[in-house]
Amino acid sequence: MENQYEIVMGLETHVRIKSETKMFCACRNAVELADEPNLHTCPYCMAFPGALPVLNERVIDLAVRAGQAMRCTVNETSVFDRKSYFYPDNPSGFQITQLYHPIVQHGVVRALVGDEVKSFKIERMHIEADAGKLIHSGTKTLCDYNRAGSPLMEIVTEPDFRSKEDVIGYLEELQKLMRWCGASDADMEKGQLRCDVNISIRKKGETKLNNRVELKNINSFSAIGRAIDNEYKRQIKIVETGGVVSQETRGWDDEKGMSSSQRSKEDAMDYRYFPEPDLPPLVITKEFIEERSIGDLPIDRRLKYVNEYKLQADDARILSASRELSDFYEELVKQSGDAKKSCSYITTILFTLFDVHGEAISFNNLKFGVEELARVITLVNKDEISSTNAKVVVEELFLNGGKADAIVDAKKLRQVSDTEALKAIAEKVLADNPGQVAEYKSGKENLFGFFVGQCMKASAGQGNPKMFTEILKGIL
Ligand SMILES: [Zn+2]
Repeated sequence: MENQYEIVMGLETHVRIKSETKMFCACRNAVELADEPNLHTCPYCMAFPGALPVLNERVIDLAVRAGQAMRCTVNETSVFDRKSYFYPDNPSGFQITQLYHPIVQHGVVRALVGDEVKSFKIERMHIEADAGKLIHSGTKTLCDYNRAGSPLMEIVTEPDFRSKEDVIGYLEELQKLMRWCGASDADMEKGQLRCDVNISIRKKGETKLNNRVELKNINSFSAIGRAIDNEYKRQIKIVETGGVVSQETRGWDDEKGMSSSQRSKEDAMDYRYFPEPDLPPLVITKEFIEERSIGDLPIDRRLKYVNEYKLQADDARILSASRELSDFYEELVKQSGDAKKSCSYITTILFTLFDVHGEAISFNNLKFGVEELARVITLVNKDEISSTNAKVVVEELFLNGGKADAIVDAKKLRQVSDTEALKAIAEKVLADNPGQVAEYKSGKENLFGFFVGQCMKASAGQGNPKMFTEILKGIL
């Protein structure tokens, strides 16, 4: 029965902008939870009579960057509107938002869903001030206004989603884009990214959109999948028993694994929108917009790493996840000329060092420049140091900084590639192990590795293993 129906979804996502201060006043923006309630408040965000909004330029700066990251049109003129509603989380009795003329519209977010690159259209993105937070405790409700007046972006998509995998793929990419352009950390657990899903179903082949249900209160990526599955089944059941899905807002309860009605279309509020009288239209210049354009996006880098650099899909995903890491990798490839080794030196050697030394992975505060790591890779590729010793050099760079060549010399790690010297060592090793030589010659060929190992040992690790291999083959 289920496979007769297709699910049609659109998303409304709120992303908290990472500015230092709030949208219209100098209070600290509550990007993270504050130490105590109502710490970051002032006469403006507490709506004292006569206090007026002053727009924070940084909010516009970051919103424009986010618009560019979503490949949207950024409007040179947008307008703030007043949305009236009365609720204790909102001292002023209205919210400043943008209804009719948003700052950003008509874009696209490309995301990998499975192996397929899919495009999800962005209808619009506007900026608005957040409300405070209500804490229900026993019979009382407590109000915390740290968040009141914090800047948000509301990103609205077209109904382009046909599966929960689409939705999660898009949200993961959106999260990356927000971090990539610096507009937000978009951490869902910290409430920096919140998502409402509009869901309707229709018989496959139909084009008409049916009544939709807006699902709210979804707090994690995994909860989204569960909420969508549940709503899809609920709507099919209604239609199959001859009913009509009513247009309403439902709240998802992840613990109970079910949703419940919050508001129907009939009791939708009248927000009495009108242009905000305390703020003129927002006008920004073409130059302001162009200066904030963004080149490669994470998805572009990720696809390049797979298609051009031939990296494993998982490595490509990791190396394109953050801008600082991806930029570091790009520079390492440029200087070393070796995309695969550049990948493994980061994802195995460096990541292990971060882990072993209990440090968070960060490429902004390394004790060495990318050119030193590139030099290590070059030395390995020229057979001047062994890959085992390369790890020693990288660890020294990681812990104490310095120059790769100086470390190689100080620790005597440069490989001996003098044929005569290596030949003498190989001959001595064979002379010292007559029993093994006899066994090898009678067919026990896996002893070859033993001879190479003994040669490496005899040269104190400085002999070139490839040359030892050649020499031993010649003698044996
Ligand atoms: Zn304030």
